Amino acid sequence: MTSNRQLGFSLTEGQESFRQSVATFSKNVIAPMAREIDKTDRMPKQVWKLFGDQGYPAMPIPKKYGGTEQGLVEQSIMMEEVTAGGHSPVVIALLEAAALFSQSVNLAGTEKQKQTWLPEIAKGNINAAFALTEPGVGSDPANMHTVARRDGDFYVLSGAKRYVSFAGISDFIMVFAKTDPTAGAKGVSAFMVETSRPGFKIVDNISCIGLRGHQDEEIEFHEVRIPLFNRIGEEGQGLKIALSTLEKTRTTLCGGFIGLARASLEAAIWYAQNRISFGKPLGDFQALRFPIAESEVKIEAARLLTWRAGWLEDQGQPHAFETAQAKIAAGEAMLHAADTAFSVYGGFGGTQKYVVERYYRDAKIWSYAQGSPEMMTEIVARQLLKRQVPEPLI
Ligand SMILES: Cc1cc2nc3c(=O)[nH]c(=O)nc-3n(C[C@H](O)[C@H](O)[C@H](O)COP(=O)(O)OP(=O)(O)OC[C@H]3O[C@@H](n4cnc5c(N)ncnc54)[C@H](O)[C@@H]3O)c2cc1C
Repeated sequence: MTSNRQLGFSLTEGQESFRQSVATFSKNVIAPMAREIDKTDRMPKQVWKLFGDQGYPAMPIPKKYGGTEQGLVEQSIMMEEVTAGGHSPVVIALLEAAALFSQSVNLAGTEKQKQTWLPEIAKGNINAAFALTEPGVGSDPANMHTVARRDGDFYVLSGAKRYVSFAGISDFIMVFAKTDPTAGAKGVSAFMVETSRPGFKIVDNISCIGLRGHQDEEIEFHEVRIPLFNRIGEEGQGLKIALSTLEKTRTTLCGGFIGLARASLEAAIWYAQNRISFGKPLGDFQALRFPIAESEVKIEAARLLTWRAGWLEDQGQPHAFETAQAKIAAGEAMLHAADTAFSVYGGFGGTQKYVVERYYRDAKIWSYAQGSPEMMTEIVARQLLKRQVPEPLI
């Protein structure tokens, strides 16, 4: 029986040649920098320029505003290949931060706002960041404390944000603040804030276990005056904009997770083939060969879920539920592969003689970006438990 439904798993010729070009770029250009970035905990300035030259910041931006308008599947492929070949997941965080900004403007910006800000990001001239998390608020942003008070044709912004990736090297930040502190989730609005504005301050640069060079900044706003023009969307729509943005960027982030899982898996395979114990390669022992096999299964499953979420976006359909599933699977694949690689290397897995110790550190911290694994599971559970299901037959 033949099916008349179209279902395919292979990339188009264009997607495959793009994938290969990203893999070559990341292997030749990013990989040689990876160790130094981790060691110094600093992101070299030229990385953003290199990405700009490749056109990666332009991918989420419509052609009309100087972008290349590629879908979430293509962006996930790019994220996966940069991470897998570049061995430096942290560099991809630069693109994540910019995509969080661009997607918010795509979603809710006015024509004039898009014309003003997006072309510069597409060219890679401008770094941008996204500030939702606060010192007192992470998973529950509706309870944020940052406020924006209207003052004629301006807003006056006051408060603190934490964990704002690359705020210190950004020109623009998408900031979420309460315009009506009594209205809960419906009281949040979104603002584009230039970091050159008086009253903006970086108060700390938080060093992390992994993704070193990430520059997770703690920032403050002291009565920062922002013109009305910089408000994105209507008052009260801020949280909706943030969540709709995350629905897209979480999907592409999964590509990065899968890339790190692949790098860990390859490192594990190499060691399992080359390290001899009890007169045999480590890969001959079931205790090690099974987790290696399981890593591959998790990676493949995560990629399918990721591409499904990206495909739904291309069909114009909502996919928060599917993206949460993809992020759970991709996070688990990444953590499992990094943990497996560590085990295969034994005691050496935790030394700087081999790269897998960095993968392990990177995987652990990265799994919390753009929403913790528990919150992703909560999104899935919430939907499932609303389902009408029949009582099972005895
Ligand atoms: C690498 C990295 C980059 C980041 N970049 C940015 C950025 O650019 N901009 C930005 O705004 N934020 C950024 N973040 C912050 C990130 O979004 C938050 O870390 C995340 O949302 C979780 O918030 P939290 O860390 O404050 O944890 P909390 O919300 O304090 O939660 C702590 C723990 O409790 C669990 N928990 C909380 N509530 C529940 C619940 N209801 N049910 C079950 N478990 C729960 C969480 O899962 C977590 O394990 C980044 C984080 C990382 C790791």
